[in-house]
Amino acid sequence: MSHEGSCHCGAIVVTIEDDPVEASECNCSICRRTGALWTYAPPARVAVNGEGIGYVHGDRVLTLVHCPTCGVITHWSAIDPDYDRMGINLRLFDPQLWEALPRKLVDGASW
Ligand SMILES: [Zn+2]
Repeated sequence: MSHEGSCHCGAIVVTIEDDPVEASECNCSICRRTGALWTYAPPARVAVNGEGIGYVHGDRVLTLVHCPTCGVITHWSAIDPDYDRMGINLRLFDPQLWEALPRKLVDGASW
């Protein structure tokens, strides 16, 4: 079953085709500031509607996208087109979808 989430103002709508199985919290320099809770999926299983602003930092492996109007972080996508994984911020979705999922701590700060 697919799930639809959006940023706060609704300008960006993200649809995921698969049920998330865990919620990842990352301690890297960006994630610890934004508080996003990540699930990961192949880009083919995710639809993003709406125009976000991309932010590429330090190691230039991914683009972090946020809404230009409300500022909510919606997802990240890999800069390498062959990398078959993207991250979706679970906080865009109804809490019932992710509240009870096992939390996984990702040690992005050490990468
Ligand atoms: Zn927005």
